Amino acid sequence: MNIILFGPPGAGKGTQAEKIANHYNLPHLSTGNIFRESIKNETSLGKKVKAILDAGNLVPDETVVDLVASELYKSEYNEGVILDGFPRTVAQAESLDDYLEENGKKIDFFITLSVPEEELVNRILSRGEGRSDDTPEKVKTRLQVYRNETEPVMNHYKAQGAVKEINGVGSIEEIFGRIKDTLG
Ligand code: ADP
Repeated sequence: MNIILFGPPGAGKGTQAEKIANHYNLPHLSTGNIFRESIKNETSLGKKVKAILDAGNLVPDETVVDLVASELYKSEYNEGVILDGFPRTVAQAESLDDYLEENGKKIDFFITLSVPEEELVNRILSRGEGRSDDTPEKVKTRLQVYRNETEPVMNHYKAQGAVKEINGVGSIEEIFGRIKDTLG
């Protein structure tokens, strides 16, 4: 089962992706987590993307696509994957389509978590994870980037008929319950 977990910053993608991963025994692939790990470990990828993440901007498509392609190639993803934070641009979605088609795979569910913008900002600013991009100014940038570059990805998948919109307001368990109802 291949799942894309989609939504704005602060929608709870990471939290729900972990729960789906445990419940359905699927690997969780978060591009944001990989970038943060790379920055922490000062790898060449980390050095390349640090200033971009700090500013709340998007890593160039080519870098992200290469990263995801090299991950998905691994046998641990043979049975499926939960993609979290990818694809984030229409160009990334098109690359993913090509990759899946070449490998005889497809996206089974595109789940988008809807949360009002006001709540997103509150959640991010109060979550205290110490992320360098969780400041009011950077959050504003990230939401703008989401609206301009990432939201159109949803229309891309709507055209394929795969989009399931889920109310992302409520307790973690309530929201996970809605996701399970959708995934079956
Ligand atoms: P959030 O959804 O809360 O913004 P993520 O962990 O998904 O958090 O992403 C953090 C940052 O990592 C983004 O602001 C961006 O700089 C970078 N990033 C993650 N995934 C991608 C992607 N698919 N394309 C470009 N940049 C990405």
